[in-house]
Amino acid sequence: MIKEIVKDRDFLSQPAEEATAEDAQVAEDLRDTMASLEGCASLAANQIGSTKAIVAYEDGGRIYVMYNPKLKMGAQPFTAQEGCFSLDEVSEVKRFNMITVNYQVFVNGNLVSRSKRFSGWTAQIVQHVIDHCAGKLV
Ligand SMILES: [Zn+2]
Repeated sequence: MIKEIVKDRDFLSQPAEEATAEDAQVAEDLRDTMASLEGCASLAANQIGSTKAIVAYEDGGRIYVMYNPKLKMGAQPFTAQEGCFSLDEVSEVKRFNMITVNYQVFVNGNLVSRSKRFSGWTAQIVQHVIDHCAGKLV
């Protein structure tokens, strides 16, 4: 279901709770909402009003969902200008050009652990939504 984007800073500043396999509906809503937004590269569940640590990002025209993403490794720091669907202004932020993320995916009713390396733009948008899970806004 497509949800409305949350812009309440107090809500967005709260760290997300651990997501479980019971939260598959949140992941679906996140996917639907992101697909409905033009120019949206990544979205965190708290941006659609959920308190769970679930994020979605776009890569090569496909939307991927990660449960409980954690930044495991970062290399090649740089300074980026970033906008956000929940904020009106663009901010300067420090990002890594290469990252490794540990996360979980929903497979046959269970959460399964995965690890993935990202670089460039995808690494940047993934770091943006991992920050959202920590209650951090750019
Ligand atoms: Zn954002």
